[in-house]
Amino acid sequence: MKNHDYKELKAELIKDPAIVITTHRGPDGDAMGSSLALYQVLKAQGHRVSVVVPNSYAKFLHWLPCNKDVIEFEGNEEKSQVLIDAANLIFCLDFNDLRRTDMMCTALEGATAKYIMIDHHQEPRDFAHFTYSVPTVCSTAQLIYEFIEQMGWKNFLTVDIAKCIYTGLVTDTGSFRFSSVDKRTHEIAASLIGLGMEQAEVHQKLFDNNKASRLKLLGYCLNEKMEVMPEYHTAIMSLSREELDRFNFVKGDTEGFVNYALSIDGVVLTAFFVKYEDKVKISFRSLNNFRANLLSKKYFCGGGHINASGGMYEGSLADAIALFKKVLPEYKQELLENC
Ligand code: 5GP
Ligand code: MN
Repeated sequence: MKNHDYKELKAELIKDPAIVITTHRGPDGDAMGSSLALYQVLKAQGHRVSVVVPNSYAKFLHWLPCNKDVIEFEGNEEKSQVLIDAANLIFCLDFNDLRRTDMMCTALEGATAKYIMIDHHQEPRDFAHFTYSVPTVCSTAQLIYEFIEQMGWKNFLTVDIAKCIYTGLVTDTGSFRFSSVDKRTHEIAASLIGLGMEQAEVHQKLFDNNKASRLKLLGYCLNEKMEVMPEYHTAIMSLSREELDRFNFVKGDTEGFVNYALSIDGVVLTAFFVKYEDKVKISFRSLNNFRANLLSKKYFCGGGHINASGGMYEGSLADAIALFKKVLPEYKQELLENC
């Protein structure tokens, strides 16, 4: 079962397999939307299926249909291990390298199941028996819709499943504005609305749920912590643990902050540094053809997409920022060309 041999996958599914769906650490809207959409489509066909994600995710995704069925590996290791060990098929959604599951990686590596990867990140690793990877597509959710269609499962689509797929489309495209959006993205959105899904309700649930403390943290970050470097067409922001605590930070609160600096005229690269425990998590966003994923991979043990990538730094916030500033000159020409 190499690459996308739908026939062979269908043959596997006839055997009444135990199925696990998983995704990357720190699941985002695309990861959760894709996982819960596939979960419901498989469940509707009577399959034995569980969603096991590496760790917790932002509250603004907890309204997603079937969210209560999701098992977080972190904190439920034994239960998760039993499911992984018993699985015949493991769907890996929105990631292309088992290491992206972090705390769940060892458990997955020990599994005897066949892997099915559905993903849109560049340079997929060769670990799956079935790989459906299209890096030019805006979201895994778009591929999940295509997959459902290819498998002949469109009759199983419901309004709840539509909400999940739509969430993936919206959150991975900045609400349909990134260049990764294509005609097909809008066709799929149209067909989801055609099922009776209220798109305004999904947007509201995703974005109109701010706490005052989150907006204040954003205001603080933009006002006090943003540094624009015009000669590099770059802007950076950072938050320390103490600053997060001051604004009663909870997971997900800084989601999207990195995009604000990218809206500055003349800025083509933004980096957002946040201190978590012993590590600094960095988010990069870029415009045009500036390859933020290469920078992230080379210096911050990360990767991702051309215009949206992330990485880590083991050390202090100041050292992470210093390293970024040190390597910026190497990218000066590319930054200028993409301005
Ligand atoms: P975010 O900035 O929202 O955390 O991540 C943006 C994108 O960068 C993600 O969709 C993912 O593709 C990628 N990414 C984030 N963190 C990492 C990381 O630590 N390693 C790799 N390989 N990719 C990452
Ligand atoms: Mn994605």
